[in-house]
Amino acid sequence: SDTGSQKDRVVTEEEWLQKWQMGNTGFHKEQVHPLLQKYLDVLLNGRSGLRIFFPLCGKAVEMKWLADMGHNVVGVEVSEQALKDFFTEQNLPYCEEPVPEISGAKKFQSVSGNISLYCCSIYDLSSSIVGKFDGVWDRGALVAVNPCDRQRYVSLMITLLEKKSSYLLVTVSYDPNKHKGPPFYVPESEIKSLFG
Ligand code: SAH
Repeated sequence: SDTGSQKDRVVTEEEWLQKWQMGNTGFHKEQVHPLLQKYLDVLLNGRSGLRIFFPLCGKAVEMKWLADMGHNVVGVEVSEQALKDFFTEQNLPYCEEPVPEISGAKKFQSVSGNISLYCCSIYDLSSSIVGKFDGVWDRGALVAVNPCDRQRYVSLMITLLEKKSSYLLVTVSYDPNKHKGPPFYVPESEIKSLFG
């Protein structure tokens, strides 16, 4: 297929932690993503006080931006450094506690209570732990998931959605033979079959 050169590539959690440690985080942007600004109305759909999920959240500045608008933000990220950097860089006091259902996992929560970030693999989460969401901001998430894990990732995401929810997905379009990823190239046809 046109993505054949990427389908067997695996980036381990350890490699992600190393990227954070080395500062190889070119994916992080200091400004709110222009596509989130453009499609905010689609995400909110006239609603306020939403629960919004950030899969593979890194230290995305959009989490503070949406929380400041009155929404409740939940994220998941394997790098503890990313999550601590988020709260420090955004000047948000936070507390830290274990997650009883997930061995080794920690939850970092803003003292104001409206941002909760889980430090664990997304595959450890379920709706019984984090509840369901009205909205998802998926940027640098599906495209960062190993190609072999895409179906598992999307199936899990679907279980985390409320009946009436909006899912904003950012992908990147390029020739997958010219770059090994991540971000991986996920063709539109595959997105349609993954999400149904
Ligand atoms: N969405 C963020 C970060 C994108 S980079 C942004 O827009 O800036 C992808 C992130 O996913 C990295 O921070 C990496 O540490 C994290 N990650 C990779 N695999 C993960 C997994 N299985 N569970 C949770 N986080 C993961």
